[in-house]
Amino acid sequence: MRRTQRLSKSRFTAGLQCLKQLWWRVHEPQAPELVVDPRTQAIFDQGAKVGVVARTHVPGGRLVDRPYNAYAERLALTRQFLDERVPAIYEACFVADDVFVAVDILERSRDGFHLIEVKSSTSVKDEHLPDAAIQLHVLGRSGLDVGRAEVMHLNRACAYPDLHDLFVRQDVTAEAEALLPGIPGSVRTQLEALAGPLPEVAIGDHCSAPRACPFIERCWPTPPAHHVSTLYFMRQRAAALEAEGYSTIFQLPPDVSLNRTAARQVRAVRSGRMVVEPGLAEALETFEPPLAYLDFETVNPAIPVWDGCHPYDAIPAQFSCHVENGTGGFDHHEWIAEGSGDPRRPMAERVIAACRGARTIVAYNASFESGCLQRVAAALPDLREELARVQARLADPLPVVRNFIYHPDFGGSFSLKSVLPALVPELEYDELEVAEGNAASVHLARLMFEPQSLDAAERTRLLRALYRYCELDTWGMVKLLERLRGIAARS
Ligand code: SF4
Repeated sequence: MRRTQRLSKSRFTAGLQCLKQLWWRVHEPQAPELVVDPRTQAIFDQGAKVGVVARTHVPGGRLVDRPYNAYAERLALTRQFLDERVPAIYEACFVADDVFVAVDILERSRDGFHLIEVKSSTSVKDEHLPDAAIQLHVLGRSGLDVGRAEVMHLNRACAYPDLHDLFVRQDVTAEAEALLPGIPGSVRTQLEALAGPLPEVAIGDHCSAPRACPFIERCWPTPPAHHVSTLYFMRQRAAALEAEGYSTIFQLPPDVSLNRTAARQVRAVRSGRMVVEPGLAEALETFEPPLAYLDFETVNPAIPVWDGCHPYDAIPAQFSCHVENGTGGFDHHEWIAEGSGDPRRPMAERVIAACRGARTIVAYNASFESGCLQRVAAALPDLREELARVQARLADPLPVVRNFIYHPDFGGSFSLKSVLPALVPELEYDELEVAEGNAASVHLARLMFEPQSLDAAERTRLLRALYRYCELDTWGMVKLLERLRGIAARS
């Protein structure tokens, strides 16, 4: 006989998504799929920080500050604060119907309590409503008079240093109350599922929404190579084709209607050879030498910390730049911000200097670099013109690759990480300690905002890995352009 399980806010919302996922989360808490990676941990940490700051915007409250699993103590302290009629309780705990909830902020008001769910998003999302509804249910069953349910989320319009409007408190009472009639049934179903064997649940769209399920590899079969889902920019069409019984690109009928890029993909995959369209050489003429190759890595703090920044603004904190030096070689410039000071001016001055002699500045998916330059320029009026000149010289190889080339190994993606291994296989990304931009962002944020969490050896290792990663991106672009020119010359 299984021990009776309790639900929590997070378990309940996982159970709404899928009973099988809930069952694994509860009965296999040590599952490797549930091990938190550094990026997810950084998101959790950021959420926790937002939660703490949110309390200061509903001041005068008391925190139920007891260990996570000291449930009885947390309930007792909440009861004590309620009896003392404190104006707000942070992490107020309640239990009813075998559901334990900790309310982020419970604010006492003349029209009853206000239940406030704090989110580090910048808007209310549909998936926040069951979260509020389960709390309304438990608080109602605990005899509390709740007059209003709110989602308190970050405000993108807020700009540092004036953080008085950092949060928006949005009333979701009506939407959450509309879900209340279904809550007891859902709770019962979830508790019964937890008491029984692993539930049978078919795979489907619910596996990726509202959140990607961590158990996808357990449930979903590994798709064959060149599965129809890899068709470029044809998500819905691919789903329809799969429903019609087509599994791989090889099986598609000859008259299948596809966008131009996906049609090129099909030709390349079927022939097993790279397809090159006429006009590649002309398209490459945009890249007029001397060339510089530029790449930024960014940090995007949820709570802005530098003048004029909004929540989640992506601020460049590292760059790499390879510049043709006129003698057949390249000069390499690079920089990483350390410490929590504003990186924009030192970054801007170095980037302007590095790119000074270049006629064209190559950036893969250049809208990202362009946006970074624009945000930096907005903060530095004296450098605005020079930064605008850097921005005006940006040229992007991505649309050239997408419009003129398809290699069967692209796998339906034109990201640099998909294109380079196919076109420049001698470059090795796999061995890098930092192998993608999100990881770089997490490590940069750690170096800047939590230097105390790193000892000297770790700091050195991290810096080296970040420098290596960013340098490889710009060197990869150098090699990519060389390769594209070689292909154009032969076609
Ligand atoms: S992959 Fe889908 S079916 Fe499997 S546990 Fe996750 S949500 Fe449920």
